[in-house]
Amino acid sequence: MDALVKEFLEKVTLRNPHEPEFLQAVQEVAETIIPYLEENPKYKKAKILDRMVEPERVLMFRVPWLNDRNEVEVNRGFRVQMNSAIGPYKGGLRFHPSVNLSILKFLAFEQVLKNSLTGLPMGGGKGGSDFDPKGKSDGEIMKFCQSFMTELYRHVGADIDVPAGDIGVGSREVGFLFGQYKRIKGEFTGVLTGKGTSWGGSLIRPEATGYGVVYFAEDMLQTRAETLAGKTVVVSGSGNVAQYTVERCLQAGAKVVTLSDSEGFIYDPAGIDAEKLAYVMTLKNEQRGRIREYAEKYGCEFFAGQKPWNIKCDVAFPNATQNELDEEDARTLVGNGCICVAEGANMPSTPEAIHVFTEAKILYAPGKASNAGGVAVSGLEMSQNSLRISWNREEVNSKLREIMKDIHRICVEYGTEADGYINYEKGANIGGFVKVADAMLAQGIV
Ligand code: NDP
Repeated sequence: MDALVKEFLEKVTLRNPHEPEFLQAVQEVAETIIPYLEENPKYKKAKILDRMVEPERVLMFRVPWLNDRNEVEVNRGFRVQMNSAIGPYKGGLRFHPSVNLSILKFLAFEQVLKNSLTGLPMGGGKGGSDFDPKGKSDGEIMKFCQSFMTELYRHVGADIDVPAGDIGVGSREVGFLFGQYKRIKGEFTGVLTGKGTSWGGSLIRPEATGYGVVYFAEDMLQTRAETLAGKTVVVSGSGNVAQYTVERCLQAGAKVVTLSDSEGFIYDPAGIDAEKLAYVMTLKNEQRGRIREYAEKYGCEFFAGQKPWNIKCDVAFPNATQNELDEEDARTLVGNGCICVAEGANMPSTPEAIHVFTEAKILYAPGKASNAGGVAVSGLEMSQNSLRISWNREEVNSKLREIMKDIHRICVEYGTEADGYINYEKGANIGGFVKVADAMLAQGIV
């Protein structure tokens, strides 16, 4: 089996030599899917996995704009339309200086399996730009978004490709992107999700990824007759996903003691309560400040340039970015008694870290399963737009809860090993793969 995986990965590496993140994501999937293909030769014969690692289309374009000093700036825009076997392409836009084709292809590839797991009819895609929103005025953000959409509009649409937010793209950016699309096309459609609730957005969409990852962790804990109540929780990041992870953890009676950003992390042993969380939301979403200001305000410690994984905890939520948790971090977490790691970010744990978690047989959920709540509610936003109705908070939240439960059930179905250990990674990969693969088989060689 190892030889088959190796042979496949060599082939993919040869075709994509400069794309380490994409190759990492493919390897993670290939290791669990290739044994499954051996048991199910119809997929192997139709070269489904070979086709899935090749995007249906990659768009790359120039994004010129004028900064506040009237100087010309040039960024690079991308949209990776990975797989449309089960629905229109769907996946976020990321604005961050690190963005390149490798990162977007890894995200788009993961998105295909994630969207399939939600049970909703959504294909997979991802896009973005190497534009850095940090330190930019609202006017500059608007000019950039307008230029970006002036090219992207010809490739997206409510039944074609429906982008949303991701790192660096929140409600402000989605608003500017939507406004420009509407102006160019002269039509009001559900071309983006994460819209404001007064203009087509869904309630619970801002909360969805953070709430969803905690719901998933609660389902995992339940398999060991545990709950979040009274548990100490470590969270990385302080953006959208991290904020609503904290909110839901508080509702579940857990104590969250860390948050981070790209400069370091804060450790608040007393716990981040509702009032402190409200401060973080204002600090990050309105003032666009740094997490170290939390430490100054509440008199706790700020650890510059460090990640929170050496803080003793029961449950960890890596919610910032890819590869933020390595083998040593994983050993520290396990050594400190952590029993559950649920990923809010995409691919935050390195392959070596995942190996440590599964060897130790702690509960570990890959992002494609545990952070699917965001895209799930985006799918519900698309349904509401098509029906021209809005569901209330309770309706959306209960649908989100059901979808997360269902993803957990699929992971248990495909991922339970002989000794009873639930390998969520295997379960998510196979569970996500089967639906897409069957659709690809039915649709012929396209
Ligand atoms: P935000 O932009 O709201 O927040 C990102 C957070 O991560 C910030 O605290 C940011 O710090 C930190 N961060 C970003 N890049 C780095 C880096 N290179 N090193 C250290 N810290 C970093 O993004 P989201 O909360 O939306 O996204 C977080 C993760 O969740 C991403 O992996 C995203 O793909 C994933 N995700 C998001 C979904 C959503 O619905 N938003 C859905 C599913 C997954 P700083 O401010 O200093 O940059």
